Amino acid sequence: MKTRLWKAFKKAFLALIRVPGIFLKAVLHFIYPPYCVICDAWTGDDDSIVCSKCWARLENE
Ligand SMILES: [Zn+2]
Repeated sequence: MKTRLWKAFKKAFLALIRVPGIFLKAVLHFIYPPYCVICDAWTGDDDSIVCSKCWARLENE
């Protein structure tokens, strides 16, 4: 019984870590919308909370 439960848990865990990254990203974007925190621009595929333009500006300052 215990082994069966462990197998079910392992299966669920393996299924979870095999979830495509894009799905996790979608969930993450739902929680943290991919908008730049500085200029409110859409950061798109960047996983950053700051858009590339603002990053460039910050790096140059
Ligand atoms: Zn920005």
